[in-house]
Amino acid sequence: MSPRLVLRGARHPGDIAVADGRIVAVGTIPPEPDDVVVNCDGDIITAGLVNTHHHLYQWMTRGRAVGCGLFGWLVELYPVWGQLSVEDVRAAALVGLGELATTGCTTASDHHYLVPRGDDTVFDAIVDAASEVGIRLHLSRGSMDLGESRGGLPPDHVVEDRDAILASTESVIARHHDGEMVHVTVAPCSPFSVTPELMVESAELARRHGLRLHTHLCETVEEQRHCLERFGRRPVEMLDEWGWVGDDVWLAHGIHIDDGEMARLGTAGTGVAHCPSSNARIAAGMCRVTDLRAAGCPVGLGVDGVASNEVGGLFGELRQALYTARLRELRPDALMPGDVVEMGTREGARCLGMDDVGSLQVGMRADLAVWPGDDLGDIADALTALVLGPDRSVRHLFVEGRRVVADGLLSGTDLAAAHRDLAGRSRRLWEV
Ligand code: ZN
Repeated sequence: MSPRLVLRGARHPGDIAVADGRIVAVGTIPPEPDDVVVNCDGDIITAGLVNTHHHLYQWMTRGRAVGCGLFGWLVELYPVWGQLSVEDVRAAALVGLGELATTGCTTASDHHYLVPRGDDTVFDAIVDAASEVGIRLHLSRGSMDLGESRGGLPPDHVVEDRDAILASTESVIARHHDGEMVHVTVAPCSPFSVTPELMVESAELARRHGLRLHTHLCETVEEQRHCLERFGRRPVEMLDEWGWVGDDVWLAHGIHIDDGEMARLGTAGTGVAHCPSSNARIAAGMCRVTDLRAAGCPVGLGVDGVASNEVGGLFGELRQALYTARLRELRPDALMPGDVVEMGTREGARCLGMDDVGSLQVGMRADLAVWPGDDLGDIADALTALVLGPDRSVRHLFVEGRRVVADGLLSGTDLAAAHRDLAGRSRRLWEV
């Protein structure tokens, strides 16, 4: 047995001891001779953040279509994304995952739905980047099979054939799903870029393997209008018809949902990835977070792609979620700091189907974020200090008890060099 790791001296929740990748004690922990001690005097420790929705490849195209709504933004970006090589996606994934780790994420979900020329080694590249960073990955094999010529939004050259998608999804599962550091999810992109057949067959495929399902839904009024025009029904009605309402599904955004639809999703336990900054950036709307949670939906937090949220870290979404809920409801206690920390950790883990990640209890996996507390010692409540205080990166980050960030720096990757490589690649696309 390896020696016990003890994070000692944190103001919240006290000391934490870790052995064999699990939390074994929390509180005031008497020293033992062989302990490996990490000094956390005055720091704040939370469970590692869980990012429930992201598109890592979008780090290649930050800062474009800045004044556009969803459809205009997508139409401007699809042709550029169609130019990305596997190496570009790896470079973006390395930066994206590195930034997530340094800002407190121990689990990252990536919804990758662009597979130009059908080359699905792009998923190998994302897994490889996650392994280099040391972060836990939920890899969504995304897909689009409805191009412009058949009534979809994306140009034909960025969509794939349905049979090819399903065969590739089987292969990605076989290559990468281990249920520990890499979880594969089946994830057709959005109602305006997929066929009903792909939705139905994807659900069958995922359930055959006991895997989870993910898609974008109810993000904008444009999307709702598209569904009404094409199907004569609203997005959640379509979701139900496709067999997608269940506790093995989580949806990105979930904004434009009426009371009846909310009751249906809540009873089923369908999760929602709330991405407040991205929603604000493209003026999609404000998610009814407190209603969804009251209805029974787990609500996690997501960065969404950095082409619609140039920050790229999840930490700022804690405060943004709190502010958005209060402004939407004009209620100053709509969400409290503890609520958004819960959403960013435990509820996010529930969205992703993990029951042993996301809280600081004995027996849970040791996915831990140590936040510097030096400048927050004047605020009595630690979570209030963390959420409402200034933005910060982690001092240390542990995934499965392994140190991924030490003293603010990634252990496995030179993040500054990764940014330089990415910027060179990205500039090449400026003329496209
Ligand atoms: Zn998204």
